[in-house]
Amino acid sequence: MTQRLPEWLTIRLPRPDTIKEVEGMMRAKNLHTVCESARCPNLPECWSKKTATFMILGDTCTRSCGFCAIKVGRGLTVDQDEPQNVAQVSKDLGLKHIVVTSVARDDLADEGSSQFAETIRLIHAANPLTIVEVLTPDFKAKRWCIKNVTDAHPEIYNHNIETIERLHTVVRPQAKYGRSLDVLRTVKELDPSIYTKSGIMLGLGETRDEVIRTLRDLREAGVDAVTIGQYLRPTMRHLPVNDFVHPNEFKEYEQIGEEMGFAFVASGPFIRSSYNAIEFSKKVMAE
Ligand code: SF4
Ligand code: SF4
Repeated sequence: MTQRLPEWLTIRLPRPDTIKEVEGMMRAKNLHTVCESARCPNLPECWSKKTATFMILGDTCTRSCGFCAIKVGRGLTVDQDEPQNVAQVSKDLGLKHIVVTSVARDDLADEGSSQFAETIRLIHAANPLTIVEVLTPDFKAKRWCIKNVTDAHPEIYNHNIETIERLHTVVRPQAKYGRSLDVLRTVKELDPSIYTKSGIMLGLGETRDEVIRTLRDLREAGVDAVTIGQYLRPTMRHLPVNDFVHPNEFKEYEQIGEEMGFAFVASGPFIRSSYNAIEFSKKVMAE
């Protein structure tokens, strides 16, 4: 049985011709964006603000999180032309803020970190004024893999903790709460000039106290920015939504986060990790 959505979550589907145009450009270079593959409701707004999220290292993940619609598998290849293609398409589209993310590649010795590094370097070379935000998997918190990425100097390093500690075994069975905090802490240790960011989803059964504790743990790990959004079930095979959090409650978490000292908090039903990413860069990089 499908769950009825509350009125504040009425889906804003992007216009089919906008998706088609983006898809055409991406397929020509064998690239993928999360924006189109997730049919993200924010697509028209993000693309008009010259922000997009590229997904590198393929469209198949070696993990299987209970909330995620990405395909699961192993034995995948790495496209050596991908970093150059991402850089070129970003330039052609005049993108100002580019998010680079990937599936988890537990099959690769470097967890895919070298591909991230090369992609960052080539985007910067082709688009010197563009902000590059990476949204990486946990790389099993291997310091040398995180260093591969920080040495390429992305402006923002994002790693989503996704949910509160108690729900990790169900929501992210191959990940660990403490390990994600370690990733974020390590980035700051390696290069304090890189802004760090993380995100959580609500509506999976977490309590208010657990959300506040997670925000505090992120802040203590030196995280600068946090995004808080509503979990929506991609298909009936995925975890059910426990509750639809009211917009007022999101507002309250935003205030709590700001009082804790985050430089940027985006909290609301439609907030996704990369939604309005450009606002964060405008705010903190102008300071
Ligand atoms: Fe793309 Fe992220 Fe914007 Fe969605 S929120 S359209 S995935 S950049
Ligand atoms: Fe999805 Fe990331 Fe989990 Fe893979 S590791 S299943 S891409 S959330």
